[in-house]
Amino acid sequence: MIPYGRQSIDEIDIQAVVDVLRSEFLTQGPVVPAFESAVADYCNAQYALAVNSATSALHIACLALGIGKGDIVWTSPITFVASANCVLYCGASIDFVDIDPLSYNLSVPCLSEKLARAEEAGCLPKAVIAVHLAGQACDMALIHALSRRYGFKIIEDASHAIGGKYSGEPIGGCRYSDISIFSFHPVKIITTGEGGMVLTNDAGLAKRMQLLRSHGITRDPVEMTHEPDGPWYYQQIELGYNYRMTEFQAALGLSQMRRLDEFVAIRHALAKRYDEHLHDLPVVIPWQDPGSYSARHLYIIRLQPEKAGKTHREIFEAIRFAGINVNLHYIPVYLQPYYAGLGFKTGYCPEAERYYGQAISLPIFPALTNNEQEAVVQTLIRAVGA
Ligand SMILES: *Cc1c(COP(=O)(O)O)cnc(C)c1O
Repeated sequence: MIPYGRQSIDEIDIQAVVDVLRSEFLTQGPVVPAFESAVADYCNAQYALAVNSATSALHIACLALGIGKGDIVWTSPITFVASANCVLYCGASIDFVDIDPLSYNLSVPCLSEKLARAEEAGCLPKAVIAVHLAGQACDMALIHALSRRYGFKIIEDASHAIGGKYSGEPIGGCRYSDISIFSFHPVKIITTGEGGMVLTNDAGLAKRMQLLRSHGITRDPVEMTHEPDGPWYYQQIELGYNYRMTEFQAALGLSQMRRLDEFVAIRHALAKRYDEHLHDLPVVIPWQDPGSYSARHLYIIRLQPEKAGKTHREIFEAIRFAGINVNLHYIPVYLQPYYAGLGFKTGYCPEAERYYGQAISLPIFPALTNNEQEAVVQTLIRAVGA
C-alpha cells in the first residue's frame, strides 16, 4: 500500500530523540526553546511557541485574539475540521467563504463581497482564518488590505505550509497576519509525532499564548497581582490549558528542521514529474500561483467528469483497490453532521462542493520512489480509462 503522505525519519533524528530520553528533562527543558528559536529564525518571526498540536495552536491563537461569545470568524470550507472547530471552542460562531476555482484556497472576491454584505448587516467577522491548502499561500496581501478596511484579525493556518514562501518570504513570518500556526503531525512537512507551533510578531499576543499553553500560570513577578509570597510562588492569572510540547518531540522537530528545505525540494521534484506525466489525462493538475513557493504538502488533481467515462467515486475506488492510498482533502467542513446541526446546508459554497466531487490527493512525500510514483501514474491512467 502506498500512502498519500508519510514521515521521513533518519538516524540523526532518532539519535536526537534518544539523547533527550537519556537527559535530565523530558519536558520543560532546553530543547523546546531551541526548536522554537530555529523555527522563528527560519520564518523571520519574532516569537514562536511550540504546542502539542496545531489544533491547540489554533485554539490559543483564537483566545489570544479575544475571540469569544458573540464573535464571528470566517474560514475556508476546504480544510481540516480543526480550522473551524477552534472558533467553536471559544464560544464564537463560524462561517465559511467559498473557494477560488484555481487555487482551492479561500476566494478573495468571495471574501470581499461577503464583507461588504456583512458590513451592511452589521455582522462583520472578528477574524479570518486563511488556510494555505496544500502549502500554497492564500492571497495574503489582498486579505490583509481587506482586514484594514473592515477591521478583522488574521490567523494563517499554515499546517501544510512550513518551508514554503509567499512573495519571496517564508510562510509563518506573519507579515500579513497576526498569528500563523504550523502542524507537525506525521503526514505534514516536518514532524514531531503530534505537535504544532504558533508564531507572531506581537509581544502581547506571544505573552498571552505562552500563558494559555500552560494553565494561565506565570512565575514572572511583574505579571503578578502582588509580591511573590516566596521562592515557590506562582500565580494563575488566566484560565489556560496544558498544551505544552515535550522535549523529545522538540528534539525530533529541531532535527527535522535540518532537512526542511530538502523535503520541500523533493516534493517539488515529485510534483513536477506528476505534472509531466498527467498533463495529457482528463484531469486538472494543481495550479501554482507564480507569487507563491508552495511547500507541496498535497498533490491534488481534479477529475473532469465530462471527459472521463467514470464517476469520481469509481475512479477513486479503482486506485485504492490497486493499493494506492489516495485521499480526498477535504470534505467541505460545513457538510459534516455536526455543522449541519449548526444550520449549514448543502449548496452553501457551490465551488467547494464542485471541488469535493472531483478532487483526489495523489501520494507525495520525500520517500516516494520513482517506481512507486510510476505505479501511481499507471494506475491513474487505467482508472480514468485514458
Ligand atoms: C493537520 C491540520 C490541522 C490540525 O493539525 P494537528 O497538529 O493534527 O492538530 C489543522 N489545520 C489543517 C489545515 C491541517 O491540515
